[in-house]
Amino acid sequence: MLGLYVHVPFCAAICNYCNFNRGLYDEGLKHRYVDALRAEVHRAGDGSPADSLFFGGGTPSLLEPAEIERIVAECRDGFAFSPDTEVTLEANPETVTVDRLAAFRAAGVNRLSFGVQSFRNDELRRLSRLHSAERAGDAFRMARCAGFDNISLDLMMWLPQQTVAQWLDSVEGLVDLGPEHASLYLLEVYPNSPLRDEMARARWSLAPDDDAAEMYLSAMARLEAGGYRQYEISNVARPGRESRHNLKYWQDGEWLGFGCGAHSTRRGARWKNVSATDEYISRLQAGLSVVVDVRELSREAQLEEALFTGLRLTEGLDLDAVGHRYDTDVWGRYAEPLQPSLDAGLAVREGSRLRLSRHGMLLANEVLSLFV
Ligand code: SF4
Repeated sequence: MLGLYVHVPFCAAICNYCNFNRGLYDEGLKHRYVDALRAEVHRAGDGSPADSLFFGGGTPSLLEPAEIERIVAECRDGFAFSPDTEVTLEANPETVTVDRLAAFRAAGVNRLSFGVQSFRNDELRRLSRLHSAERAGDAFRMARCAGFDNISLDLMMWLPQQTVAQWLDSVEGLVDLGPEHASLYLLEVYPNSPLRDEMARARWSLAPDDDAAEMYLSAMARLEAGGYRQYEISNVARPGRESRHNLKYWQDGEWLGFGCGAHSTRRGARWKNVSATDEYISRLQAGLSVVVDVRELSREAQLEEALFTGLRLTEGLDLDAVGHRYDTDVWGRYAEPLQPSLDAGLAVREGSRLRLSRHGMLLANEVLSLFV
């Protein structure tokens, strides 16, 4: 089954740490963009089965519910949706009301993902977020009132000036609300980000690496005690509430991305749409392709990718099954380079399965880089 991704590049303000493909909200541009999106989906629709649709951004909740409805309808027309298709909308807390959320639900959205980032106002201010901790809680409760029973909250850890105890305040705030799913990301401070300059000016620092490790390990322990199960390096869920869409990225699946800068992976090829919103719209208006970069993936590259992404899952991979799929003796090939990670307890072998230990997840890039 395909996953469909729709990128919405508009934000009400640009956060000081952000390096996503986004720009400031502009009503006229948004109208033209929604038309362009529908044209792109219409062109790509080939009746293939799909069981997930994910609106990511940017801030997709800045679109009107009627616009979301039209895009969902275009996707339903072009692809054969399974009856239980997961339709996720990323939402920023300050953009929602009960009425808007109810209208998104009526438009076909059945899962929300709120970018909360922190339940502490001092941290939200440092990140230049528009919402407060109270607003985030209100948005969650509004979503429940609007009938959403599948909600994910994002938190970011290792923020400027954040201590382990302060980070755990946010984790506690999340557990108190009780969403079905949570994603925990490590803040990355990019070289040219305004946040980097602000940190230098205000002399904000990041906690030492050991504290970052403790933040991760203690959060996972708290979430597990709260009834969540970790299923990927950065993601936990109540049983059965894992993100179906995101699992496609980690389980060697196929997806089509629509919108500026969106990526697609299908039938052994990967491609990317033009990143600039204006150019994306004008190409579609002129009936031109929006694809700017196509790569045919060799079997070798597909195997490496399957290993690199699949081992992000807590259950790891059955390397015999992967080897069978790619006609390669995976164990024979990687046993030697993997040995130091196995000896150090970062990776665990159980029969034909290989998985990362929780400590291994802290050093995941180091371990997984041996596959690429
Ligand atoms: S809301 Fe999200 S996408 Fe928009 S600027 Fe902030 S971090 Fe970036």
